[in-house]
Amino acid sequence: MTENILIAEDDANIAELVKIILEVKGYSITWAKDGQEAMDLAQEIVPDLILLDVMMPRLNGYEVLKLLKENDSLNHIPVIFLTVKGETDSKVVGLRMGGHDYITKPFDLDELIARVEAALRIKGEHDHLREANQRLSELSMTDPLTSLYNRRYLMERFHEEVERARRYKYPMACIMMDIDDFKNINDTYGHLQGDQILQKVAMIMKNSNRVVDIIARYGGEEFLLILPQTDLGGAVVVGERLGSLISESRFINDDPEQVVTISLGASAYTSEQTGTKEELLKEADDALLEAKRQGKNRLVTTPLQE
Ligand code: GH3
Ligand code: MG
Ligand code: MG
Ligand code: MG
Repeated sequence: MTENILIAEDDANIAELVKIILEVKGYSITWAKDGQEAMDLAQEIVPDLILLDVMMPRLNGYEVLKLLKENDSLNHIPVIFLTVKGETDSKVVGLRMGGHDYITKPFDLDELIARVEAALRIKGEHDHLREANQRLSELSMTDPLTSLYNRRYLMERFHEEVERARRYKYPMACIMMDIDDFKNINDTYGHLQGDQILQKVAMIMKNSNRVVDIIARYGGEEFLLILPQTDLGGAVVVGERLGSLISESRFINDDPEQVVTISLGASAYTSEQTGTKEELLKEADDALLEAKRQGKNRLVTTPLQE
């Protein structure tokens, strides 16, 4: 993979020299003749490294670095300042501001190449770590079987949503859901088929949600749905639609006789009255138990409706 280096330097002779040296080494070089052009090109090509002159028209090197650091998609790019020999101040300022390194003009060619290689090597390692971290954080918040959020992540988000509802005086609702007679399904069709049913139920739940809703696998065959800015009436609409979608889906050998159903318990806080997430959860759980008691495949709300 060819690495892209952006050189921002208003002296065309210096820029040309650097370009020739680094192109021989196999890098792809883009030249920006002032600071503003450097910003524009950085956003366009997202280079792997930026060689940045300090004194330039329009934006100077420090101003460019500051803008780069403020930009989420550019702040990971290493910057090597091109400073004039003897100007200790500019080196110190550049490094303090987050510059990776500096090279003094006129260049020693081998030093230029060595510093560029070192910066790119470190960037490669950083990129690798960032990807690994990203992957780890995704793994730590999702359930491997269904790819829904896991319970731990859900409880964090639940807490945030309750706080938000309290602060801004929004209503909010939650729905606890449990697949009916899932033990029978496992016993009849086997655990593998059971797993596939769980995955399909999860997919239906995920696809029928608003972006702001949070759906998680709470336990074995239990799911919890958090509905921000939704009152109990709204939760009933969402829950009943979900129940119908699942009971109308074909899960087992495309057989219309073999239906999978869920029971749902919904609870809500009004815009005036908010409690803890535990209380809301308990109410949803009680409602779910009541739905099971009443014969399953239904939604019950708390305060329990007549
Ligand atoms: P109810 O209608 O009262 O909820 O009955 P149920 O059979 O669904 O409930 P019960 O709690 O008796 O059984 C839940 C079953 O879910 C038992 C357990 O083996 C199964 N289960 C939990 N997690 C998984 C899983 O990841 N895969 C599979 N295949 N089964 C699971
Ligand atoms: Mg200059
Ligand atoms: Mg069950
Ligand atoms: Mg259960």
